[in-house]
Amino acid sequence: MIPYGKQEITQQDIDAVVDVLKSDFLTQGPQVPAFEKSLRDFTGAKHALAVNSATSALHIACLSLGVGPGDTLWTTPVTFVASANCGLYCGATVDFVDIDASTYNLCPIKLEEKLIKAKADNKLPKVVVAVHLCGQPCDMRAINALAKQYGFKVIEDASHAIGGRYLDTPIGACIYSDITVFSFHPVKIVTTAEGGAALTNDDKLAEKMALFRSHGITRDPNLMVGESDGGWYYQQIELGYNYRMTELQAALGVSQMTRLSEFVAARHKLASRYNELLAELPIRLPYQLPETYSGLHLYVIRLQLGNIAKSHRQVFDELRANGIGVNLHYIPVHTQPYYQNMGFQTGDFPEAESYYQEAISLPMFHLMTLEQQDEVVAVLTKILQG
Ligand SMILES: *Cc1c(COP(=O)(O)O)cnc(C)c1O
Repeated sequence: MIPYGKQEITQQDIDAVVDVLKSDFLTQGPQVPAFEKSLRDFTGAKHALAVNSATSALHIACLSLGVGPGDTLWTTPVTFVASANCGLYCGATVDFVDIDASTYNLCPIKLEEKLIKAKADNKLPKVVVAVHLCGQPCDMRAINALAKQYGFKVIEDASHAIGGRYLDTPIGACIYSDITVFSFHPVKIVTTAEGGAALTNDDKLAEKMALFRSHGITRDPNLMVGESDGGWYYQQIELGYNYRMTELQAALGVSQMTRLSEFVAARHKLASRYNELLAELPIRLPYQLPETYSGLHLYVIRLQLGNIAKSHRQVFDELRANGIGVNLHYIPVHTQPYYQNMGFQTGDFPEAESYYQEAISLPMFHLMTLEQQDEVVAVLTKILQG
């Protein structure tokens, strides 16, 4: 089976992890700060906090922004459930904004329409989570302008987008958002096995996220209530979690980050080759927003079902049966049983649902050979024409 995504691990990566195993620190040593520095250097963000997953990063991002009961978080329905669940973790209500028909990202026009209505009802969101689906940046200037006008905070869920650029800045620079989150799961662009990070330019948010990452505990006398009792002393001043990244993971991340630009460039080569080889098939190819450079975590096609004799499911199953490890990103979150139990219904977000009827993620990863790509193209062509 040709997988839809796969990590690249070199001897350099292995050596970096083995060195940590032989060192004094398996956790809370020098590698996590080194990894955080590599994230700051790459993105230009002032602060980067490495954590044990993007899900944890989304959670501490929401907590640091003060999301709690009575608040509302909005995001896109076409995302992994974690982009929405982070609001629920904080006791907030979650709602969705339908996607744009060409980028598949949260639509700024629908966002504005929903904000106008929410303002009239006195139900404005506290936070909007903008997800850069497939690595394609959201229209951040438009979202940022609405954030200023309506007074909400913006988290970029850039789990798909490290290494990409929006206008002139790297994704993660947080020019148009309060916080940006990355994932380092093995299918993503760079990996730490499990892992994530939250980036911000705001000192206060960074300080709060550092607390929430590690039990709400501080050793900084400036943050303590009253005086320190001595060298052993720490204080718990918030209810935090253990979301720390290990030294093993961070060392892998430091090593992987040296190849990030190469990873994204390889994905772009494969994507433009797909664009050429698939041009004549009855499918919609990915669209790219002008003035952006995608991280290209995913290459998603949409079937033009009116011009194909098979159903979406038949095409998907036949691809898998023929060794092509396709996937579908994502099942719209509002159609998940857990969200339906909260009152969401099929039909609530039609653009997201029509995307779901047609989308297929084709295999694309750093080590994919041209022969493997030709195989994907040949099998897909045969299935669509057969
Ligand atoms: C993978 C992913 C996450 C969760 O990442 P983890 O590191 O596995 O917690 C969140 N949001 C999106 C869009 C993702 O693709």
